[in-house]
Amino acid sequence: MALLLGCIGDDHTGSSDLANTLVKNGLRTVQVIGVPSENTPVPDAEAIVIALKSRTTPAAEAMAESVAALKWLKQAGARQFFFKYCSTFDSTDDGNIGPVTEALMAELGADITIACPAFPTTGRTIYNGHLFVFGDLLSDSSMRNHPLTPMTDANLVRVLQRQTKLPVGLVAAADVMQGSARIKAALNAATEEGTRIAIVDAISDDQLYDIGTACAGLELITGGSGIACGLPENFRRAGLVANDASAAAHIPDTPGHEAVIAGSCSSATLAQLAHAERSCPVLRINPVSVMSGADVAAEALAWAEAHLGNTRPIFAASADPDQVATAQQQFGRMEIGEALEHTLAKIAQGLVEKGVRRLVVAGGETSGAVVQALDITTLRIGPEIDPGVPWCETLNDPKLALALKSGNFGAEDFFTKSFEMLTKGRT
Ligand code: ADP
Repeated sequence: MALLLGCIGDDHTGSSDLANTLVKNGLRTVQVIGVPSENTPVPDAEAIVIALKSRTTPAAEAMAESVAALKWLKQAGARQFFFKYCSTFDSTDDGNIGPVTEALMAELGADITIACPAFPTTGRTIYNGHLFVFGDLLSDSSMRNHPLTPMTDANLVRVLQRQTKLPVGLVAAADVMQGSARIKAALNAATEEGTRIAIVDAISDDQLYDIGTACAGLELITGGSGIACGLPENFRRAGLVANDASAAAHIPDTPGHEAVIAGSCSSATLAQLAHAERSCPVLRINPVSVMSGADVAAEALAWAEAHLGNTRPIFAASADPDQVATAQQQFGRMEIGEALEHTLAKIAQGLVEKGVRRLVVAGGETSGAVVQALDITTLRIGPEIDPGVPWCETLNDPKLALALKSGNFGAEDFFTKSFEMLTKGRT
């Protein structure tokens, strides 16, 4: 299978979101954590997403890492490149979207690229260059109070122009509404006028597909995961995608014990735990014991012995907001968070040693800690369990089926439904 699309994501969960979108649109996709070393073998995939953590790092660092990722993808044979950032354009005036785009364009010798974070289905629309979040201007949305990247200007042409010396222009709704040929003509006209990065309006998902079609010839595309929806079709039209869309989502085939680890305290995860508790044993991880220095992970793994193989044990630090507030007051927010993440990650390691091969992890930070502890570097993206959460298969040894669920994602029966999908996949 030939590599077609090489992607660079500026954070982990955003990269998974992109990988999931590409699979849903028919490309076999592998996610790689961090810049691979020169001699890392190229995974067999039509799209590779390299997940960086470059959203809020100093610009020079983000540029260097992104260019290193691009060079690796180029060498791996990718034909087109995609720089993925958040659909709310998370960045400061010293931020990284402009500088990284500039560095990638220079490396590719690209005349023009687009910047399109729109994803109408998820409430992100762009009209006359202004980004709206569920109908509110970005600058009126909760993003204006974001702790790291407060967004106080909704005009993306202005925002991006403050980050780059390359001229920023606009392909506006009046052109976008008229379809892919008109969008392409508008991009050509913009190039002639000297625009190097064009913000592109989009107020419906159909328009994302038209923009995707118009971008078939661009070396580099930048945006949110929405704009990636239309790209696989270009490769399919050119006869480069071997399989039909439904074949891309490979179901992990990893027989072995099952378990769930939950570090998220979001309302969706709490409801999922309550639902799963009716049929599975749940071990609650007590923050006070963890902070007292007791070997909570060893105790948890001893408890697991009786359950592994017969049923699906669940290990949960998760607690309701009052309990979390009490623990945070007692021990400090960061201290307790990190200590619990560390304990859960140690439990994950022990579980894999005991033969667990199918693991669901709830919580973004918790997932990061587990992935790191298990030394996972490559994940083949499988079928979607609930919107935004796919099963993945690790390409490292031992092979694991892994579902990394951002806290608020997933329906109430997530902890049972997800495993049933794997069992059905094997019959
Ligand atoms: P989400 O995706 O819901 O934000 P995360 O895993 O990213 O979940 O973040 C949850 C954080 O809360 C983690 O740092 C975790 O260790 C911490 N945490 C989990 N349980 C508790 C608890 N009982 N008290 C305090 N902090 C907790």
